[in-house]
Amino acid sequence: MGDVLIIKTKDELDLSILEKGEVHRCHIHIADNSLGVPWRIPAIVIKGVSDGPVFGVTAAVHGDELNGISTIFKLIDEIDPKKLKGTLVLIPISNVPGYLRNQRYFSDNVDLNRIMPGKESGTSSQIYAYNFLHKIVKKFNYLLDLHTASHGRVNSLYIRADLENEETRTLAYLQNPQIIVQKYDTDGTLRAWANENGIPTITVEIGNPNAFQHQLIDETLEGILNTLRHYEMIEGEVKDMITDGVVCDHSYWIYSKKGGIVDVLPKLADKVKKGQVIAYVYDVFGQVKEEIVADRAGVVIGKNVRPNCEAGTRILHLGVSIIEPETEDIPGHEDYSE
Ligand SMILES: [Zn+2]
Repeated sequence: MGDVLIIKTKDELDLSILEKGEVHRCHIHIADNSLGVPWRIPAIVIKGVSDGPVFGVTAAVHGDELNGISTIFKLIDEIDPKKLKGTLVLIPISNVPGYLRNQRYFSDNVDLNRIMPGKESGTSSQIYAYNFLHKIVKKFNYLLDLHTASHGRVNSLYIRADLENEETRTLAYLQNPQIIVQKYDTDGTLRAWANENGIPTITVEIGNPNAFQHQLIDETLEGILNTLRHYEMIEGEVKDMITDGVVCDHSYWIYSKKGGIVDVLPKLADKVKKGQVIAYVYDVFGQVKEEIVADRAGVVIGKNVRPNCEAGTRILHLGVSIIEPETEDIPGHEDYSE
């Protein structure tokens, strides 16, 4: 058990004052809560012995998306600060109020990953977002932002990244995930703000909310270590950046048209054919009301697992390759799951 460094509300995380070759544990005061005391974001800073990049890993920007916390804890055990080049800044719980409530949103029920960069003077979530970026995230040279599916849904291990940008494409391929999806930066997300501010960033979606899934956590950890080897922060051979997974040009959600009880058939990462039945919606007497089919061939990135379904429920997140992006309409319903 080491000491915990307290970084006061007015201060930023100052990496230059931290001793080299050590692991530092910090509480960073972000903004005052209703007790008049600060929300404290925990940060683990592993400062190497020689100069190199500042590599950030953030988890639980959505407070119920927890696989990233275990990933970070395992990563700490893998790193010898006496052999590290550069600095690792690991934020296991980014959205502290959401984590305390076991919910996706901030304490004012706003999604932090829709309001970046926040505001210096604004609502409580805007102030928190602003200070999170300016006290912590702007120190990074690279960032992996770790998420999971949201409540009622499950995900594969997949990456959302702008693959047209060389640096973020490299970050994506280094992870060797099950699936990679082209996603342009969406305004308001941490990924978009960081990329706009010269910090190459991708989003890593690790399975399901409210759980530790150790197989996916270990695969994510291996991807992070591979990335650190690529940037020569740790020693070791970089695995080929040829993913075993599937690279998709686009993804979208297929919705139910009817309400009732839904059973979604394919497993995560399954490939489905055009016209294949992917879900049945039953009425309350057990009779099929709707057969939902895949409107094109693709791979199952995520899916609904909550059987009670209103009309217009998100059923299945399909990753696809678009053959003629200029002439073809974007199919399905837009994916806002980041
Ligand atoms: Zn999330």
